[in-house]
Amino acid sequence: ETIELNKLLKNVIDKIQIQVKEKNGQLSTKIADDPIFVQGDRVHLANVLYNLIDNANKYSKENPEITVSLEKTGDRAKISVSDKGIGISKENQNRIFEKLYRVPTGNIHDVKGFGLGLSYVKIVLEKLGGSINLKSQLGKGSTFTIYLPNFEAKRN
Ligand code: ATP
Ligand code: MG
Repeated sequence: ETIELNKLLKNVIDKIQIQVKEKNGQLSTKIADDPIFVQGDRVHLANVLYNLIDNANKYSKENPEITVSLEKTGDRAKISVSDKGIGISKENQNRIFEKLYRVPTGNIHDVKGFGLGLSYVKIVLEKLGGSINLKSQLGKGSTFTIYLPNFEAKRN
């Protein structure tokens, strides 16, 4: 299935805005004007984007500041989700992609979750030939960046 990421991303953002506003947060976007296409499963890809933005919102204490961007870089589509939330220590940056792993903070039960979202994200991206990378600093925030093979829709 060929998917226009610009539209898919906007739909996901519309859905999650409610939760961001509940926490008095701000979500800003930088979405390319030109359509960017990928091949994949629409539902899985929407879930991937939803989980990353949901995490950015959940793991920000108050007034989340979230930035979501979409651009084309060479032959790949690149989507970044940045927050200024609690951040993730170096030791935990690989572990959070493991099934059931949640960072053991003092208030872990304040924020609900199964510890499955990111392992699911990884599975979906691997299946589509994509990847994910994380830059984070404890107490400062995190940026998750995903890459997917860009699909040039054939025109004739
Ligand atoms: P769910 O299965 O509902 O998504 P979850 O959010 O706990 O539950 P993951 O999305 O897999 O599970 O994330 C795993 C852990 O990584 C989280 O519990 C949290 O400790 C940490 N984490 C994920 N995203 C962020 C973020 N943006 N900022 C800080 N910590 C994060
Ligand atoms: Mg999650």
